[in-house]
Amino acid sequence: MATEQSTFAVVGAGLAGAATAWRLAEAGHDVTLVERGLPADHEGSSHGSARIFRYAYPSTLYTDLVLRSRPLWSELEAAAGEQLISRTGCLDWGEQRDPGALARSLEEAGIEHELLSPATASERWQIEFDSPVLWHPDAGVIDAERSVNAMVSLATSHGARLRTGWDVQRIERTTSGYRLHAAAGDTLDAERVVICAGGFLPRLLQNAGVDERFLAAMPRFAVTQEQAYHFPYRDGAEDWPTFIHKTEAIQTYSLPGGRDADFRGQKLAEYAVGKALPSAYEQDGQIDPANRERLIAYVKDNLPGLVPEPYAETTCLFTTTPSEDFVLDRTENLTVISPCSGHGAKFAPLIGVLAAHLAGAGTPAAGRAALPREFLVGGSLGAASLRDGGRR
Ligand SMILES: Cc1cc2nc3c(=O)[nH]c(=O)nc-3n(C[C@H](O)[C@H](O)[C@H](O)COP(=O)(O)OP(=O)(O)OC[C@H]3O[C@@H](n4cnc5c(N)ncnc54)[C@H](O)[C@@H]3O)c2cc1C
Repeated sequence: MATEQSTFAVVGAGLAGAATAWRLAEAGHDVTLVERGLPADHEGSSHGSARIFRYAYPSTLYTDLVLRSRPLWSELEAAAGEQLISRTGCLDWGEQRDPGALARSLEEAGIEHELLSPATASERWQIEFDSPVLWHPDAGVIDAERSVNAMVSLATSHGARLRTGWDVQRIERTTSGYRLHAAAGDTLDAERVVICAGGFLPRLLQNAGVDERFLAAMPRFAVTQEQAYHFPYRDGAEDWPTFIHKTEAIQTYSLPGGRDADFRGQKLAEYAVGKALPSAYEQDGQIDPANRERLIAYVKDNLPGLVPEPYAETTCLFTTTPSEDFVLDRTENLTVISPCSGHGAKFAPLIGVLAAHLAGAGTPAAGRAALPREFLVGGSLGAASLRDGGRR
């Protein structure tokens, strides 16, 4: 059994943990990043090539966070030497998505956009629209897996240690900090711990020795196993945008599937209808056939540009708070980060800055300007969750 020591231990090498380890190591801290599987592990939420990057949010807080996040993505792309976001544009429509209100919020934020009639939009995209349509061209697709690997590489290039196959079962309070116990019996002593465990968080938090009052004040996390399907482009077209469509009957999101789908299809999912799990440990990777049929019918009715026969499918975990806000919180020297709720990928490099700062790493290299004012209480970072009811 090995015993190691580190100033910071970061648990989980998904988008949040990779970004946190990168920022901590870049700031010169001694960091160990432990991951139960591999970075961007298939059992986590940051695997694969496709997550939507978009600015349109009903909440101005989240649009502001996207604006703060975008230059950090460019910084990451430059440091990693690879493109991680492909620009595709995004469409928003459906009466429950309220494209008019979203357009006003983009207008306020100075983000390029157009509000189109259903007929005009149908001339441009092979989609049957049932409401006015918001188009904003600077949206795109994030390659989640490559982004995780890029941030882990940067972290290790700055001296961070990566331990894979290191499944934290328990975190024990010690006189000088914390002792992390791995399933295989190894231990890691750290002064400070940042937990970025995605859907595994609910169970790990129960075994982290944290104050009951801290746990009680935390929003309730719901972990659900979501399902996504890849439908081929009818004419081999590759220039589809991302989209979000919300009506009373159905809420969907979609994006070019990229590498995961041989670059020949659109990834499509119904939003947050997956089965509830106690935590990520209980996932089974099984697709619900009724959900597949529902999405096939949806393609037939709404997306004439796609062939209504999925050629690939996958499951993935949502970790959702009731308001769909993120959790960035700290008790003593233990920080909990969950950029959850199916919309956290686009904020990853910003989450890293915030998490490192919250965990006690000092002012981030990216500068105080990177911190949203909601995090600054009297000039220093407030240990608070993002609470804005910032629904997707
Ligand atoms: C289907 C789906 C679609 C999405 N679409 C979008 C989108 O379009 N746009 C967008 O912005 N966001 C989207 N998201 C959300 C985004 O992907 C997540 O917010 C993000 O990936 C969460 O990253 P994370 O690091 O918090 O969690 P994870 O990626 O789950 O990472 C947690 C890591 O911790 C590891 N771990 C867990 N427990 C332990 C332990 N005890 N010991 C050691 N390691 C541990 C896990 O193996 C995992 O690698 C989507 C998510 C899903 C699931």
